[in-house]
Amino acid sequence: MRKIINYYLQELSYEGTNLADETDLFPTEGGTAAIVYAFHSLAENHLLKKGDKIAINEPIFTPYLRIPELKDYQLVEVDLHSYEKNNWEIEPKEIEKLSDPSIKALMVVNPTNPTSKEFDKNALDAIRKAVKKNPDLMIISDEVYGAFVPHFKSIYSVVPYNTMLVYSYSKLYGCTGWRLGIIGLNKKNVFDDNISKLTEAEKAQLHKRYSSVVLDPDKMKFIDRLCADSRSIGLYHTAGLSTPQQIMEALFSMTHLLTSTNGGSDDPYIDIARKLVTDRYDQLHDAMKAPKDETDTNSHYYSLIDIYRLAENQYGKDFRNYLANNFQQVDFLLKLAEKNGVVLVDGVGFGAKPGELRVSQANLPTNDYALIGKQVLELLKEYHEEYEKESK
Ligand SMILES: *Cc1c(COP(=O)(O)O)cnc(C)c1O
Repeated sequence: MRKIINYYLQELSYEGTNLADETDLFPTEGGTAAIVYAFHSLAENHLLKKGDKIAINEPIFTPYLRIPELKDYQLVEVDLHSYEKNNWEIEPKEIEKLSDPSIKALMVVNPTNPTSKEFDKNALDAIRKAVKKNPDLMIISDEVYGAFVPHFKSIYSVVPYNTMLVYSYSKLYGCTGWRLGIIGLNKKNVFDDNISKLTEAEKAQLHKRYSSVVLDPDKMKFIDRLCADSRSIGLYHTAGLSTPQQIMEALFSMTHLLTSTNGGSDDPYIDIARKLVTDRYDQLHDAMKAPKDETDTNSHYYSLIDIYRLAENQYGKDFRNYLANNFQQVDFLLKLAEKNGVVLVDGVGFGAKPGELRVSQANLPTNDYALIGKQVLELLKEYHEEYEKESK
């Protein structure tokens, strides 16, 4: 199954780079467990210490902002920001911040949640350059939305030595309940090498930590430490996914391997999945008369709607200011939910600015997205009527 999953990941996301035979895998209970295990083992192995700086591409999936702040970790977050005015494209200038060796790690979601944008060629080149200047940088790259953009190129395939790949089947196969995730690490990787550079005292402590489960703890690979740590060392022998989960990962992987030839473009399931979210994205934006990002680097899995910008486009700047100055951004969300049962997610939790609302294109029948767009505009109209009354 390791071989099947490795070739699946390669077909899906390495774009012409062959890494399947040099990648070690640790299948996890979804991407969720992969993230939790990664933070835990990085800290236990002294690779991330309290006060260390980690870079994060924001806006981002909320756990990447919350976990580093916990008492267990207390990491300092450096924001690599992208903006709606650039269609959420991250600028190489932001990525250059990684050249600073005081930044120990990069936590990156690509294509990201909530903006749905993929790192383009310029961004990947900037990562390659930054890693040359900061060769000990540890990258944790969460690529659960990779298949939703054509010709996706994984950060792991660009800088395999520096990158821990996090993958999940949840999004592409709509199988969140199965809990099917993977951590992938190159056989030669910065995590192992950074462990070999720890102080003698730290090494002695880790020797003791892992000595009950392996004969030569000093040589224990980081991927095996992740696995042992996931069961508090003591239960290392029963760590890992259940047999049905492992078989499910292999079956999903094989559906792709059986149909695809060149980089996944011939997989009809993937084509349909992409078309589905794109149709819903189009319906939503058409109904709101909002501009679309139709580039190939948009996965269309989520939309971020800037409610203030929409207000300004519809009714002018004064109304925008009225809305921003008189209401909390959650008021709009609550009203929308009360009125129509439409529940959107506030973007502030993802590090987006107030007034950005996230819509998932994965949840509802396609026609509902036109309805959501219409209801957002109707609610804005009601606010506007209120505004007109008040300004008389
Ligand atoms: C959904 C999601 C995950 C985790 O999904 P699982 O269901 O636990 O596999 C991880 N990262 C990102 C960015 C996600 O959006």
